[in-house]
Amino acid sequence: MKGEATKQLHSKYLMNTYSRYPIVFVRGEGAYVWDAEGKKYLDFLGGIAVNLLGHCHPSVVEAITSQAKELLHVSNLYYTEPAAKLAELLSLNGGLDKIFFCNSGAEANEGAIKLARKFQWRRGHREKYKIISMTHSFHGRTLGALSATAKPQIQEGFGPLPSGFHTMGFNEIERLDEAIDESTAAFLIEPIQGEGGVHCAGKGFLEALRAACDRSGALLIFDEVQCGMGRCGTLFAYESFGVRPDIITLAKGMGGGLPIGAICATDAVANAFQPGDHGTTFGANPVAAAAALATLRVLIEENYSERVARMGGYLISKFHALQQKYPDVIREVRGMGLMIGIELRVDGASLVAKCHEKGLLVNVVAGSVLRLLPPYIITKEEVDRAVSIIEEAIKRVKNKRGL
Ligand SMILES: *Cc1c(COP(=O)(O)O)cnc(C)c1O
Repeated sequence: MKGEATKQLHSKYLMNTYSRYPIVFVRGEGAYVWDAEGKKYLDFLGGIAVNLLGHCHPSVVEAITSQAKELLHVSNLYYTEPAAKLAELLSLNGGLDKIFFCNSGAEANEGAIKLARKFQWRRGHREKYKIISMTHSFHGRTLGALSATAKPQIQEGFGPLPSGFHTMGFNEIERLDEAIDESTAAFLIEPIQGEGGVHCAGKGFLEALRAACDRSGALLIFDEVQCGMGRCGTLFAYESFGVRPDIITLAKGMGGGLPIGAICATDAVANAFQPGDHGTTFGANPVAAAAALATLRVLIEENYSERVARMGGYLISKFHALQQKYPDVIREVRGMGLMIGIELRVDGASLVAKCHEKGLLVNVVAGSVLRLLPPYIITKEEVDRAVSIIEEAIKRVKNKRGL
């Protein structure tokens, strides 16, 4: 079988950190990817919220190739144009005042934690160091981001983890006063939790967090690594909730498929970083920045946020209908825009395998939540097709269980 050699090389030479699905991908275009055997899949996972504009969007590919012919890398000791233009476009479209570019979501959160602590420190609040994150959160795999990720299974064996990290119940407004104190430097929260199972923050909860931060001098950090860049129907997730954070972190879809991340902050907060305080060799690498600039331009110029909101509404209504039809399989449908979670009463893994068989890519998070992160270019017909494949998979899982 084609692709077998790739699988064997992988298992022999790559560290065993992922239990991969048995598919080798070789090509992508729009909402579709093809495996080594030529089988075509409708991609409703989008490389985990990365391929916002689908695979190999022409504007993104053009930006990458023309930049690659000019300049690949010089380091942050010099000025480069793609970084400057990208920062301007982000800032003018809701990305607060100043940007720091990095390479991944974990790195963005790591930097945001450092920025929050340095901000407090520079203001003379040396007592404010605690970072409070939420239950079911996911902020990344580096030691700091991992400490803010309240998931004992993925922390196990890596201790001692950095101290000064605490967790509070997601959406538990009544616990807020208990969680915050004079040592709180910042709250770190995903407005819509992704890996934790697609849980949306309540508007009231975010408003209460904002008010608590304003009272105490703590900062509010939104991790929009997954839910940002138009995913939930506004360019930045905070705009959907009407609550403005002090710091936003971005990554995943930002580069339209290339690795790039960002920390966006208000001027007052950003000023806490002075030369030498933070850095990263590849941050805003010209090729990655050119890809991100092209992606962001397309998102804004073609008004994709509006399309995401509309398509998301359609998708979610389809799943509500499926839930009515199969209440013994679907427990709950959650999400915003094109970030949707379907909480199952059945084994998620076998449902995913059946979708793969039928040519649909989806995955499961938090054990039992089918997560959909389709590209913003999907059409109604593609939504219908995905829903019918999932319905087919549900029927087969039901038959097997004799439901
Ligand atoms: C994926 C993710 C991260 C980590 O991003 P990496 O690029 O994998 O380091 C952090 N926060 C959220 C909300 C994510 O979804």
